[in-house]
Amino acid sequence: MWKSTFVRCALPALLQRSSSVTACQALRARGRLGSPAVSPPCFLTSMQLRGQQTLVSASLAMARHGVRQARALHKERLVEVEWEDGGQSLYPFTWLRDNCQCPLCTLQSAEARSLLLSDLDIHTGVETVQITDSNKVSIVWPDQHTSVFDAEWLRKRCFSSAARQAMQEELFINERYYWDSKLRIPTADFHEVLHDDKAALAWLLALRRVGIVYLKGAPTTRGQVARLSERIGYLRLTFYGHTWQVQDKPMANNVAYTSGKLSLHTDYPALHFPPGVQFLHCINQADEGGESEVVDGFHMAEQLQKEDPGAFGTLTSLRVDFKDTGTDYCDFMVQSKNRIIDVDSEGRVCRINFNNATRDSVLDVPVEQVQPFYRALKAYVDIMNRPENVVTYRMEPGDLVTFDNWRLLHGRRSYVSSPDRLRHLEGAYLDWDEVMSRLRVLRKSVHGEM
Ligand SMILES: [Zn+2]
Repeated sequence: MWKSTFVRCALPALLQRSSSVTACQALRARGRLGSPAVSPPCFLTSMQLRGQQTLVSASLAMARHGVRQARALHKERLVEVEWEDGGQSLYPFTWLRDNCQCPLCTLQSAEARSLLLSDLDIHTGVETVQITDSNKVSIVWPDQHTSVFDAEWLRKRCFSSAARQAMQEELFINERYYWDSKLRIPTADFHEVLHDDKAALAWLLALRRVGIVYLKGAPTTRGQVARLSERIGYLRLTFYGHTWQVQDKPMANNVAYTSGKLSLHTDYPALHFPPGVQFLHCINQADEGGESEVVDGFHMAEQLQKEDPGAFGTLTSLRVDFKDTGTDYCDFMVQSKNRIIDVDSEGRVCRINFNNATRDSVLDVPVEQVQPFYRALKAYVDIMNRPENVVTYRMEPGDLVTFDNWRLLHGRRSYVSSPDRLRHLEGAYLDWDEVMSRLRVLRKSVHGEM
C-alpha cells in the first residue's frame, strides 16, 4: 500500500505500469528517452529490480485514508488509529506532542519545529482524543493545548515496518536497477531536460535508479555542464575547478589529461566525501579511439559477494589510502582513507571508492594482510572487466553523459591525439544531496503534494 503511493507519485505515468524490462522502452516511446549511441538491441533484460515484488505487486490505488476510530491507550501511552480500510497504526504520546502542527509549535513558513525540547514533557499523558468533522485526529493535552493531525499526514508516518520502509523509499529512492553489458543507456534530449519539468524528473529518476543517463543535442561549446548544474542547483567545486577540461595536456596533473587508456575507476576517492554525480560533455571527439566504458559497481560488488565472500569482506572492511597531489584551481595535497566497497548499516553497498591511479603506495595494514588485499582487489577488478559486464559507447560532439559517481566505474580507451582535431570533454561534479533535492522539488511540482 505504501509502496504504491511512492510508485504512483514518483515515476512517470508509463513507467508506473511497467516492469523493469519495459520501463525505459515506455519512456523512449514517450519521446523522453531516445536510442543510445552504441547499444545492444534489448534494454534492461538482465537488470535486477531491487524490491521488484513490492513495486510490481503493489496496488496502484491511492485511496484517501479515512479514520474510523482513534483512542488513547493510557497504559501504553499510545494513540491507536483505526483506518477505514481496516488497518491500524500506533503513535506514542510523546511523538504526537513533539510533532504538534499548530502555529505555536511549528513555524509553518519553514515547515520546521519551533517547540523547544526543553518545553517538551516526554512523559505527557493525554486528556482526550477525538475525530473532527473533517476526519482529523484531535488531541487535548493535560495543559489544555490542542493538537490536530491530518489523517494522510499520520498515515504516512505510521511506525509499522512496512510504512517506514515505504516512507524511506519515497524520500531517498534507494531501489536500484542493476545492469550489465546489455544495458541500453536511458537517453533524453538536453534541451527538453533544461526546459520541461517532466523530462527533468524522468532524467533524475533514471539517474538515481539506473545510475547513468545520456543527454543528446547539447551545443558544442563550453559551459553546458554548468548550465545543466544550474538546473539542479549548484555544482561541486573541487581542486580541478568549477568545471574541468579533459584534454591531452603537457605535464598533465591527472592521468585523465593524457591520451592513454583509463582503467575503470570512480572519480576522486582521494576525498573522504567524493562527488556523487558527474557530468561529462563531449565538445570534440578524437578521430580514432577514445570510446567510453562503464560498469555497475554495485552489481559487480554483489557478484563479488556471491563468488568470493572473503574478497568482499576484505574490500568492505579495509580502509585504503588514496592521495592526489598537484596544482590546478590552487595547489593541493589530498589524502584519504576509504573502503573500496562501502556498505551501509544494513549491509547494502552504498558507495564504490576506487581509482588505481590515486591509490597510495602507503598501505596501512599489517604485512601479512598485504597479499590478501591484492587478491581481493584483483578479484573485484577481474569481475568488472568481464566483457559481459562492461557497457561501451562513443561520445560524439553535443553528447552529454550524466552518471552516479558513487556507483559506476568509468574508463576510456586510448585515443590518437591529432593537433587538427583535439579530443575535448568538459566535466563537472555535483552531490547527491542537491540532485535528490531537485528530484523531490520536481516530483512535487509534476505530481502534486507528496
Ligand atoms: Zn501545538
